[in-house]
Amino acid sequence: MPTCVHHISWIVPVEGGLHQCIQCQQIVSRKDVYPKLEDLGEELRRCWDEHEARGAAASGAPTQAKSGG
Ligand SMILES: [Zn+2]
Repeated sequence: MPTCVHHISWIVPVEGGLHQCIQCQQIVSRKDVYPKLEDLGEELRRCWDEHEARGAAASGAPTQAKSGG
């Protein structure tokens, strides 16, 4: 398999707060994508963070759930 750069335009959010590259089907992390999230602006980075956080919460992260409302 040729080396995939995991271009940001190929990255899609998948279950579990993960991100997948549609070119190579790999699960990628923020440091694997090109260009770097840091270079792409705060908005995209926030989307990435929110998706991760949501997935972590849904998959039962070891955080104490508080009953709020
Ligand atoms: Zn890829």
